[in-house]
Amino acid sequence: MTTFIVILGPPGVGKGTQAEILSERTGLAHISSGDLFRENLKNQTELGKLAQTYMSRGELVPDDVTIGMIRERLGRPDCKAGAILDGFPRTPTQADALDIMLAEFNGRVDVVPFIVGNDAVLVDRLGSRWTCRANGHIFNQKFSPPKETGKCDYDGSELYQRDDDKPETVKRRIQVYLEQTSQLISYYREKGKLIEIDGMQTIEQVTQTMVVALKK
Ligand code: AMP
Repeated sequence: MTTFIVILGPPGVGKGTQAEILSERTGLAHISSGDLFRENLKNQTELGKLAQTYMSRGELVPDDVTIGMIRERLGRPDCKAGAILDGFPRTPTQADALDIMLAEFNGRVDVVPFIVGNDAVLVDRLGSRWTCRANGHIFNQKFSPPKETGKCDYDGSELYQRDDDKPETVKRRIQVYLEQTSQLISYYREKGKLIEIDGMQTIEQVTQTMVVALKK
């Protein structure tokens, strides 16, 4: 059986952290559109260079480019049993495209945890977020610091602060989220798939709430 979970929520609310934990627990692939763009950027692919202009401004990369990238990712063998989607879809066009793509793989979006949080807290959290260079593991200097400063607990790689985690870009990203992604909330709510989760709890509490909600 395939299971596709779409995690929704504003930047900084913990989508990536929770998707990573759920992926470890369920064995489902974790697909982060932001990580895929950053990987392309690191490897200086054409896709990465194109995405960079949008990412550095906190804007969304055009739908056709993003959808093409996700289509390729969903076709990889580790998605056979399903996947946890983090950061995609972000627009109604992407959500429609996802439904069509999943139908090709005999799947559909099963459930949509929507993690909610307070804007001021999100800006604060992103300002102290550190990301691992090798695999995108996420730490927070204030709330979940690494054991050793500047070093990833999981793979020992260097931790860095994302350019788009700077306060001006963060505010733009939250605004873009409100303009574009919040339309998806009604899209999935109408389909009866949305489960609202309080993202202002501790990481463990959010995971626990998600696991209980997903079992239902
Ligand atoms: P994230 O890591 O999810 O915060 O994404 C970082 C940046 O990548 C975003 O600010 C966008 O520029 C781009 N991005 C990630 N996912 C998408 C998407 N689904 N659609 C368009 N742009 C995206």
